[in-house]
Amino acid sequence: NISADFPRIRQLDEAAINRIAAGEVVERPASAVKELVENALDAGARRIEVAIAHGGKTLIRVTDDGHGIAPGDLPLALARHATSKIDGSDLLNIASFGFRGEALPSLGAVGRLMITSRAPGAEAARIEVSGGRMGPVTPAALTRGTVVELRDLFFATPARLKFLRTDRAEGQAISDVVKRLAMAEPFVGFVLRDMSEGGEGRVSFRADAESGDLFDAMRGRLARVLGADFAENALRIDAEREGVSLVGYAALPTYSRGSAVAQYLFVNGRPVRDKLLIGALRGAYMDFLSRDRHPAAALFLECDPHFVDVNVHPAKAEVRFREPGLVRGLIVSALRHALAEAGHRASTTVAG
Ligand code: ADP
Ligand code: MG
Repeated sequence: NISADFPRIRQLDEAAINRIAAGEVVERPASAVKELVENALDAGARRIEVAIAHGGKTLIRVTDDGHGIAPGDLPLALARHATSKIDGSDLLNIASFGFRGEALPSLGAVGRLMITSRAPGAEAARIEVSGGRMGPVTPAALTRGTVVELRDLFFATPARLKFLRTDRAEGQAISDVVKRLAMAEPFVGFVLRDMSEGGEGRVSFRADAESGDLFDAMRGRLARVLGADFAENALRIDAEREGVSLVGYAALPTYSRGSAVAQYLFVNGRPVRDKLLIGALRGAYMDFLSRDRHPAAALFLECDPHFVDVNVHPAKAEVRFREPGLVRGLIVSALRHALAEAGHRASTTVAG
């Protein structure tokens, strides 16, 4: 005797599924920018331009000079779980930023998305999707690369729209995302432009010549992103242990901060907020800083993709290491060594 209103199970339609996924992948305009810029980097772009208006709420446009998308693949780029980056056989071997094939369908479900692209040897083409409704592939004009334009983010999910902060705060979050990605890619040029009236203008990071020295390029980019102050007070870190390498710059204890704002950590070029890495950084400075001070650092951990699982979190901010002890040990010893050496240099300079 099952009553008529007993809840029955039904399959959600594609649009609803995409809106739900969007809730995890795109929290705010800055997460959309992150996904789009990562796509541009995955496409091998050397120059990436981000234009926004009203903190990204009304407009986000990412233009790149990467390899583009073939016209016939445009509908697939908007299909859920469709990706050119992995074949699914080895989820522990991920060398690209993307692999879930969720960003574009999610963005198309909650905003108005237009992708214009040109792959080598093909004509430029365009596809649009708005609130999950996909249009046809049409001819377009573009010399190379890809332009992804996202308007009216979250217009299809008004509840999410209400949770957004002021244009200024959302714009700031976008700027942070672009800066983080720019730090890890000194050989790629970045431009961020605010198109809204009275907007904050523009920041740009010129690309370093790829033939140059990595540390010089990295230091130059860090100086531009974090300020010359950071670069001048930073110690070069270059260490390796069992195939895991740690490079970057860590600031002198005297350059510490009252909060953890100046800690930038990357795993295989991916900006992460990982407890293990933050804890290791803190541990390394323990003898050099009082409890209420936080070290400033930009550190890049590079390891075999099999050594780290990036498939932990939809926004990919968390990672899991196969050997957390080794990673922690590497960070702590490399930083302590650099700090001790700097301390020694300072004291001998004073003494001498
Ligand atoms: P993922 O990045 O996880 O593969 P996305 O939904 O972000 O998933 O993108 C889907 C696919 O669209 C990508 O796998 C890629 O083939 C293509 N694509 C997206 N953005 C770009 C771009 N800027 N340049 C070239 N191809 C792109
Ligand atoms: Mg992607």
